[in-house]
Amino acid sequence: MAGSKTVAAISTPHAVGGISVVRISGPDAIAAADRVFRPVSGRSLAEHRGYTAAYGTVYDGEEAVDEAVVTVFRAPKSYTGEDVAEISCHGGLYVTRRVLMAVLRQGVSPAGPGEFTKRAFLNGKLSLTQAEAVADLIQAGGEQSLRSARGAVNGALYRKIQGLTERMLEVSGHIAAYMDYPEEEIDPVESDEVRSVLTQVKAEMDGLLARFDQGRMIREGVETVILGKPNVGKSTLMNLLAGARKSIVTDIPGTTRDVVEETVTLGGVVLRLADTAGIRETGDAVEQAGVELALERLDSAQLVLAVFDSSSPLTAEDERLMERLGGVPCVAVCNKTDLGQMLDVQKLRERFCPEKSARLVEISAQEGKGLEELSRAVEEVLSLNGIEASGAMLANMRQFSCAERAASLLEEALATLEAGYTLDAVDVSVESVISSLLELTGERVTDAVVEQVFSRFCVGK
Ligand code: GDP
Repeated sequence: MAGSKTVAAISTPHAVGGISVVRISGPDAIAAADRVFRPVSGRSLAEHRGYTAAYGTVYDGEEAVDEAVVTVFRAPKSYTGEDVAEISCHGGLYVTRRVLMAVLRQGVSPAGPGEFTKRAFLNGKLSLTQAEAVADLIQAGGEQSLRSARGAVNGALYRKIQGLTERMLEVSGHIAAYMDYPEEEIDPVESDEVRSVLTQVKAEMDGLLARFDQGRMIREGVETVILGKPNVGKSTLMNLLAGARKSIVTDIPGTTRDVVEETVTLGGVVLRLADTAGIRETGDAVEQAGVELALERLDSAQLVLAVFDSSSPLTAEDERLMERLGGVPCVAVCNKTDLGQMLDVQKLRERFCPEKSARLVEISAQEGKGLEELSRAVEEVLSLNGIEASGAMLANMRQFSCAERAASLLEEALATLEAGYTLDAVDVSVESVISSLLELTGERVTDAVVEQVFSRFCVGK
């Protein structure tokens, strides 16, 4: 970035660790590092090529602050595309801050949130969708979300959108060539070809939009409610999933009183679990509050694990629970299979399995049996099976609304074509589709959007 300031920040977490990294980026980065660093070899950093490191001592004035290794990256071959020096010092909070202070005293400015990644974007090292994925990668909580973010950092969405943009540019070029001869009738072959490309690109956009919910579940986790009458084993199941005894497990009905929150991974999917009090009407005020919470959560839930006790027959309470489930994707979990079968599983199966969005599994939460089946059932009801997490996926509302706009403009272009208007009328929509796609990847985007994207980042990234 021409004329940019040199900035620095601590790029590792603000916590005690073995090593911390102070990253400096900008035209003066290596010279500023040289001013605070005395290498053992006596060879200044200015003499170092990119991708090399030097061992020595960081000084603040004449005071030695810490021993460190400084890695030199030369523009454009660095994360930001600028000259970068990374000082790896000891990972104490105070010592790291002292190293940063020493650097800032050299006329270097503190980096803002996401400033290094923003510079990478502005220097063309990353597309906007890749930069957004860096934030997702940092926050990834499970294997699927990691794979999804890594796919986006590697540019899966960017490449897909770029491919579609190229096809739209071809259409636009076609139309432009035609418009040079306005007196000529539109060749039906020509308009068929335009229609065919528009239809294909529209189908691709629709596919991306349709997978948005799945993508979001993969990245952010699935809001899950465990429901069931008291004592069926909800807490035991939750503890099994969490791998720790977080909820209170007792055999007195109604002891899970409040909502316990937990994030667990089942297979590769992150479930945001709320273990709720039994969905039982009761005079007990505390338990009543838990019931309310359970019902409230049901409204926003993306998944319900409805737990039943295999060792006793279905009761009116179970029936009532089933009625409450509505259309939320659901897995009926028949627990306590180790105790022998008293539950009419066939009846439950009939109730659940005709619906595409429900499955039934039998488990023993106490013995930890049936988790694989549960995992598979969850992926099936959420349509996460067969989703390639590393494939192109829209990652946030900004990208979603650009894609939605592109899809509706494509529809408009097709309608204009069907109505028999001239191709230049179609071209108006086609141009707008191209703008929306370029905005999605960040190739044509306002400063305000860029600011907003990077404000999500932490300082140091
Ligand atoms: P909740 O009220 O639905 O949360 O039920 P809990 O998880 O507190 O479990 C109630 C009782 O059932 C406890 O004594 C558990 O140990 C027991 N339990 C839970 N799951 C199983 C299971 O799979 N097999 C057997 N035999 N007992 C279970």
